[in-house]
Amino acid sequence: MKALRRFTVRAHLPDRLAPLERLSTNLRWSWDKPTQDLFQSIDDALWQDTGGDPVAMLGHVGPERLEQLAADPSFVQRVETLDAELEDYLTRPLWYQQRAAEVSDGNAPAVALPHGIAYFSMEFGVAEVLPNYSGGLGILAGDHLKSASDLGLPLIAVGLHYRSGYFRQSLTADGWQHENYPSLDPQGLPLRLLTGADGEAVLIELTLPDDVTLSARIWIAQVGRIPLLLLDSDIPENDHDVRTVTDRLYGGDQEHRIRQEILAGIGGVRAIRAFTELRGLPGPEVFHMNEGHAGFLGVERIRELIEAGLDFDTALAVVRSSTVFTTHTPVPAGIDRFPLDLVERYFGAGPDGHGSRLLPGVPVDRVLSFGAEDDPAKFNMAHMGLRLAQRANGVSLLHGRVSREMFSELWPGFDAAEVPIGSITNGVHGPTWAAPQWLELGRELLGADDLAQLREPHVWERLQKVDPGHLWWIRGQLREALIDDVRRRLRRSWLERGAAEAELGWIATAFDPNALTIGFARRVPTYKRLTLMLRDPDRLARLLLDDERPLQLIVAGKAHPADDGGKALIQQIVRFADRHDVRHRFAFLPDYDMSMARTLYHGCDVWLNNPLRPLEACGTSGMKSALNGGLNLSIRDGWWDEWFDGENGWEIPTAAGLADDGRRDDLEAAALYDLLEQAVVPKFYDRDGHGVPRRWVEMVRHTLQDLGPKVLASRMVEEYAEKYYFPAARSLRQTIEPVSAGAGDFAEPFGAARELAAYRHRVERSWPRISIEDVDSSGLPDTPLLGSELTLTALVRLDGLRATDVAVQALIGRVDAGATLLDPVTVPMTHTGRTDHGADVFTATMSLPITGPVGYTVRVLPHHRLLSGEAELGLVTLA
Ligand SMILES: *Cc1c(COP(=O)(O)O)cnc(C)c1O
Repeated sequence: MKALRRFTVRAHLPDRLAPLERLSTNLRWSWDKPTQDLFQSIDDALWQDTGGDPVAMLGHVGPERLEQLAADPSFVQRVETLDAELEDYLTRPLWYQQRAAEVSDGNAPAVALPHGIAYFSMEFGVAEVLPNYSGGLGILAGDHLKSASDLGLPLIAVGLHYRSGYFRQSLTADGWQHENYPSLDPQGLPLRLLTGADGEAVLIELTLPDDVTLSARIWIAQVGRIPLLLLDSDIPENDHDVRTVTDRLYGGDQEHRIRQEILAGIGGVRAIRAFTELRGLPGPEVFHMNEGHAGFLGVERIRELIEAGLDFDTALAVVRSSTVFTTHTPVPAGIDRFPLDLVERYFGAGPDGHGSRLLPGVPVDRVLSFGAEDDPAKFNMAHMGLRLAQRANGVSLLHGRVSREMFSELWPGFDAAEVPIGSITNGVHGPTWAAPQWLELGRELLGADDLAQLREPHVWERLQKVDPGHLWWIRGQLREALIDDVRRRLRRSWLERGAAEAELGWIATAFDPNALTIGFARRVPTYKRLTLMLRDPDRLARLLLDDERPLQLIVAGKAHPADDGGKALIQQIVRFADRHDVRHRFAFLPDYDMSMARTLYHGCDVWLNNPLRPLEACGTSGMKSALNGGLNLSIRDGWWDEWFDGENGWEIPTAAGLADDGRRDDLEAAALYDLLEQAVVPKFYDRDGHGVPRRWVEMVRHTLQDLGPKVLASRMVEEYAEKYYFPAARSLRQTIEPVSAGAGDFAEPFGAARELAAYRHRVERSWPRISIEDVDSSGLPDTPLLGSELTLTALVRLDGLRATDVAVQALIGRVDAGATLLDPVTVPMTHTGRTDHGADVFTATMSLPITGPVGYTVRVLPHHRLLSGEAELGLVTLA
């Protein structure tokens, strides 16, 4: 008989163990080893069975065991100590509080610290017990929250709670990926419901077409200091059709997806309002879109401001000033786009011709214009993000550059280098991804329990003092733990695929805890080239089967459920791994997730990555490997392009630019085999008298020392704070300032925003008629020399704009054969008067900056104190 419904009944916690409640539900345990050890000591077998899940574990442990522990003074003492430590972690002044003190002491007067940052993402990979992620984007969001917590940043995160999270992967007998979506009972997860004063669940509501109401409740996951709000539409108040909006991550059609994104963006803002109001917190000042999916949050904020009495353009000015947009993909096909008529149906007028019910007061044509792109039938979520955010960034230096090219159509007339998209290179959360052995060594070297100092590059130099034998011993321990895990997973997978236990004797000795171990694990989109290593299977087999110096390879990854191409690649890998001659040295492990990933990052000697450059925006798995002394062997793409220094791993030379993809794969694969044969394998097996590969260990030490501080997510979040959140808070405050027209006048609320909106309107109207009539040069000698002075005078028609409304610039620099200026120097020109026929005169004197062919030009740009830069509005007139 099958039960109709399943739920968990928990034993009542004895009073003395009451702190276990908070210790289990605050996800900080997931990066705190002592707390994990505490839970494990309650019942080791149960801990293993639940996959290390404190909430599930407390759901299963019987009342007798709890009574027994409550009577054990040493256990109770541990509970109290850890609870006190958690309390300290949650309340102690951290980096943000110190920054705030500096600002209030007047030591950093130009900085504005936001009293709240809202962070939106469709996925959050915080811990394996909350499977709210599919890959790198989600893990990154999880690491962002944990580091924000470690830094004391007042951040609130918003996403969706999916009834079945991402799928679990298994293999069929012939190696085809099979997906399985286990249903998640929120009661069994580390989540609490947001309830009102009456104890009832708070619901937020959205009106969809045909007057359908979509309601959602709000679950709160506590990630250290950071509340993560997860909206959930699976409630009886909803019709069946909308109940399924949050059924799963990345499933369903375009309609399903736009509903998810509307719920995350618009519902997300409403959830934050409900949450901050109930908790008596200030509303966030800065809104961060982690990718374009939650972009509708901007139009919801416009609606709020219109309701408060602003006009659309003023509201837009306020929203832009305080929004940050991060783009994560250099693959145009990876960008979320909807059919325009679908968006129109959700944001347009109802059948009675009235304004949109979803966003009253917000005209649909304005919403549609945010997502405009070159295909007039498409609505582009990344373009919306860029149009709603004054500040935007990519996720590595190279990706910043690629993004400026990719989105340059939004800034016509500007060189790609001037497109206002910056970059912050991703990072990974140290305490989550570094093995306990490394963290322990870190504490020893620091002489402190507080790992916050690890953000200081110089403290990593203390690794110099550590004996090579000790570093090698840690690496060996981690490799051994990995091999144990590989054997366990291999056995489980073979059994699932229909093998009999009697056939699996070979697994007990498969893989060697002393052999060079290479890992390759990630999602399986085409550009990551899962099967590049199989380009020449015989050559790979020879490397694997070398008697003296064998190599072993562990591969894992999930294909998107709709991607049969990706599944075929996995099948190719599995077929190779099934070969009797190599199966003890080459494995595909199904169901890549955070816990498998961690063991792989800890134990692999080399982390392999071979994307098609430059399609890997950043990549973070290699960073997690480096944090454990793994050496990267990678195409120079994403973060590796930035931080490879010749000593911290190997660069697979790229054949990017070849028109023939097959040949490119051949060349890059051959380069990979060459590196393995000639550099990687010999170095690993070159041992001293004690069996220690000295040169290898020096690379490990250098990797930890050099990359350790760089790859940390705390470095990344600090950069977001200083370069994006603080300036955005400052822009917001300047933008919403009341402005009075004259002495004694009533200061108009949002006066500055109105002024900016009026300015933008004026400039956009006049711009097509602005022209540079004439540019005159003088002062140049017949044979110009480096440093000779040149004076330029430009006559500009401003069509009613004031000279102070624009910036006029001279650009001078090297020119190529086609007279294109390359990396010119910009010289501001000053307004010196007006001609009789009404042209404004601008002039500048400059000295010739370089030798060789030089050219110059003049341009006019909008200029306003509330713009973040002169390219912001995408308007420019060239001479
Ligand atoms: C880090 C991580 C990723 C992302 O790895 P990439 O190198 O960016 O592809 C994906 N999945 C899991 C489980 C991870 O831990």
